[in-house]
Amino acid sequence: MAEPVITETPEGVPRVERTAKRFYDGLEEGVIWGTHCNDCEEHSFPPMTACRSCGSRDIEFTEMSGRGSLQYYSSTMLPSYRFRDEDRMAYGMVQLDEGPYFFTKIEGVDFSSPEAIQEGNEELPVDVVGKPEEVGGSTILVFEVEE
Ligand SMILES: [Zn+2]
Repeated sequence: MAEPVITETPEGVPRVERTAKRFYDGLEEGVIWGTHCNDCEEHSFPPMTACRSCGSRDIEFTEMSGRGSLQYYSSTMLPSYRFRDEDRMAYGMVQLDEGPYFFTKIEGVDFSSPEAIQEGNEELPVDVVGKPEEVGGSTILVFEVEE
């Protein structure tokens, strides 16, 4: 599934903002949008208005698989202000199957102690699957370790 990225800027709405809106609207609908470059065939994620690899603007929205591998993770001892009402969480770096890296909340890993985090990291990489989730009042893409 692919369609062109709109490159005009009507009504004074910055293109970057509209690309971000498309991404977050997609998450609400359970669709994970990235962009694909027609020049170098690389994917960008989250979707961008130019290719992150070669800078080309010949790009189009494409639906990402939502699958990847967890490269490392850690945990917040104190949550950031935005997520102050949330429980402690793990976060980490995922490499998507399409190539891009994404840093986000991770579920299904043991972060109960620094030792558990260290041991967990020794098991990596492991397969993870993305899912939209409401965190701190926003829908974000989180990744969960596959059973
Ligand atoms: Zn490119």
